Amino acid sequence: MFNDGRSRRVVFLAHCLLNQNAISDGTAVCPAAFREVLQILLDAEAGVVQLPCPELCCLGLDRGDIHGAERPVTVENTRIRRAMSASPARERLDALVEHTVRQVMEYHRHGFEILGIVGADRSPNCGVETTSDHNMEVPGKGLFMEALSRRLAKEGLTIPMVGLKRPEDAPKVTLLFNSAG
Ligand code: SF4
Repeated sequence: MFNDGRSRRVVFLAHCLLNQNAISDGTAVCPAAFREVLQILLDAEAGVVQLPCPELCCLGLDRGDIHGAERPVTVENTRIRRAMSASPARERLDALVEHTVRQVMEYHRHGFEILGIVGADRSPNCGVETTSDHNMEVPGKGLFMEALSRRLAKEGLTIPMVGLKRPEDAPKVTLLFNSAG
């Protein structure tokens, strides 16, 4: 089964790395996508699965406050973190995690190589190495990535994760190829 033209290898990518239009107001760093990341992944013949944008899905494009861009990024990110932790956003976030886990498990069940998950550092939701809390950038995962890795661990899966902040960080995704051996 699936012995056709496909590579049988996939990478899960934070939504805004492919669509900067989804990111919170004032934080886009390029017009559309992290082009270099996409090029590296395509060269590795990895299918790119775009993760949902938790903040867009749970709080809206304006994150529930049209003045967000007027605050320092980590201050606004901390507000977003609080809003995402409260009902009904938290329930929506958990549903997105489940939706993502279902996709991961399908690829896993059919023996596809899941190279990894690429997050967006400093994000209160998609950060991997750093996130935002207490009005600062701090080490640790964002709410979505934290919940996702916990759920995957419950399924017995440990999938490598890396976080990017700027397009120049693109070479970091090659770390996933090394961890996949
Ligand atoms: S980092 Fe995550 S929550 Fe923030 S814009 Fe990107 S995909 Fe959405």
